[in-house]
Amino acid sequence: MALFTTIKTPTATYEQPLGLFINNEFVKGTEGKLIETYNPADEKLITSVHEATEVDVDIAVAAARKALQTTWHQITPSERGHLLMKLADLFERDFETLAAIESLDNGKALSLARIDVAGAAGCLRYYGGWADKIHGQTIETDPNSLNYTRHEPIGVCGQIIPWNFPLLMWAWKIGPAVAAGNTVVLKTAEQTPLSGLYASALAKEAGFPAGVINTISGYGRVAGSAISSHMDIDKVAFTGSTPVGRTILQAAAKSNLKKVTLELGGKSLNIIFNDADLDNAIKWANFGIYYTSGQICCAGSRILVQEGIYDEFVKRFKERALQNKLGNPFDEQTFQGPQVSQLQFDRIMGYIEAGKQGGATLALGGGRYGDKGFFIEPTVFTDVTPDMKIAQEEIFGPVAAIQKFKDEDEAIKIGNNSNYGLAAAIHTSNVNTAIRVSNALQAGTVWINQYNMLSYQTPFGGYKESGIGRELGSYALENYTQVKSVRYSLVNAPF
Ligand code: NAD
Repeated sequence: MALFTTIKTPTATYEQPLGLFINNEFVKGTEGKLIETYNPADEKLITSVHEATEVDVDIAVAAARKALQTTWHQITPSERGHLLMKLADLFERDFETLAAIESLDNGKALSLARIDVAGAAGCLRYYGGWADKIHGQTIETDPNSLNYTRHEPIGVCGQIIPWNFPLLMWAWKIGPAVAAGNTVVLKTAEQTPLSGLYASALAKEAGFPAGVINTISGYGRVAGSAISSHMDIDKVAFTGSTPVGRTILQAAAKSNLKKVTLELGGKSLNIIFNDADLDNAIKWANFGIYYTSGQICCAGSRILVQEGIYDEFVKRFKERALQNKLGNPFDEQTFQGPQVSQLQFDRIMGYIEAGKQGGATLALGGGRYGDKGFFIEPTVFTDVTPDMKIAQEEIFGPVAAIQKFKDEDEAIKIGNNSNYGLAAAIHTSNVNTAIRVSNALQAGTVWINQYNMLSYQTPFGGYKESGIGRELGSYALENYTQVKSVRYSLVNAPF
C-alpha cells in the first residue's frame, strides 16, 4: 500500500499522505493494517490510510520524547511561535485544498469547511503569538529569598480528536501544546483521517523539528487506548463522547496518573424569551442545531420557548429549517451535508424513533433525505418535556427538541436539568434578564443573542459531565504547562 495518493475533488486535486506521521516522515504501520475512509455524501470509498497499533504508538511516543529532550528543548520560545505562524501561513496558502479535504472526508458543506480552515489557521497563529509570553512570577516572601515560578511544558502529550471538526480539532490541540513547549502524539478519528495527515505535511514544511508533532491514524480501542494508558505520555487531551472520556480518565488513573483534559458532549440550549427579537432568535436557533448537521458538541439541541411566543416561534422556526439547503457538500449553496457515517445515521434515526415513542410531536422531517449518502432531514420535535430521552441525551444530529416554559425560573430549572453543561444561549432584549439568567445557568459558555460563536481567543469547555479543563484562549495554556516554584537563598544558612 502506497504512502501517498492523488485525490481529485470538485475544487482541488492534491497529493494525500496516507502513512503515519512519525518523526517527520510518513511511514507504514508495523502490522501492515489499513483503515478505509468513506465519503459520507455518496458512501463511496475515498482511500485507505495506514493504521497505528500499540507498537506504532510506542514508536511515536519515543520520537516525541527524544525531540522533547533534544531539538525542541533547544529552540527558543520565539522560534516556536514563529514555526506556528509559518504553519498558519501554509494553512492559508493551501486554504482551498484543506477545505476540500474536510468536505470530502467529513461531508460538511464546503462553505462551512472554509470557516474551519480559517479558524484553524487563526488558532495556530494566535498560539504562535503566545509562545514567548508564557512566563511565571517573582514572589516576595522575605528579604533573604528570591522566589520565582516557571511555567514549564508538561512533556509528551497524547491527543485524541473526533471526526466532527477534524482539522479544527487538530489545530486546537496542537497550537497550545506546541506553543508551551510540549511535543505531541495526536490520534485522529478513524472516520476522518485525511486532513490531519495533510496538516502534518505542512508542519514539516513549516520547519518543525522531527518528533515534535506526530499524527497517527488509528482506532479508539487500539491506538486511542494505548495513548491513554501509556506510561511515557505525561498528559492526554481528549475531545469526544462522555462515555469514552470516562474510560480515558480511568486509564490515566490506572497507568501513570497523566494529566487529563476532556472536552465532551452536551445537551446545550437556546432560551427564547417573549421579548426576544424573534427574527434573530429564529436564525440563531436554526444555526445552533443544524450547523454541521447537528454534529457539534455544543449543538443547541434543546430550544426552550416562552409561552407567549411559542406558537409563532414553532411555525417560523419550521419555515426557516425548510430553507436550509441539503445536498452535495461541494455545492456552494449547500448548508447541511450528510451525517458522518452509517453508524451515526442509525443512532440519530434511533433517537427520532425514541422521540415519537416518548410522546413528543414530530413537527418536521424525521426521515432520510435523498437515496444516497447519510443525509437526514432537518427534524423538529415539539411538545417535548424535560424528562424525555430526546431532551436528555446527546443526539448529535439535526434534531431540535422544542419545549415551552412559563417564566425565568422555570427556564433556568429546565435548562440546568441535565448531566451536561457545555453551552447555553439566551435570547432577550432585556439586559437584566440576560445577565441574571446567564449567571444562573450551569454551562461553560453562555451566548447572549447569538449561538455557536466560538473564537480561539475565548475559553471553551464544560461544566458537569461535559468535561474537565478549558480549551482555547490563554486558559488552554494552563493545560499544557506545569508550575515549578524555585526558592533561592540570598544568605548563609542561619543554623
Ligand atoms: P468517540 O468518543 O468514540 O470518538 C472520539 C475519539 O475517541 C476518536 O478518535 C476515537 O477513535 C477515540 N476513542 C474511541 N474509543 C476510545 C477509547 N476507548 N480510548 C481512547 N480513545 C478512544 O465518539 P464516536 O463514537 O465517534 O461518536 C459517538 C458519540 O460521541 C456521538 O454521537 C456524539 O454524541 C459524541 N461525540 C462528541 C464529540 C464532541 O465534540 N464532544 C465529537 C464526536 C462525537
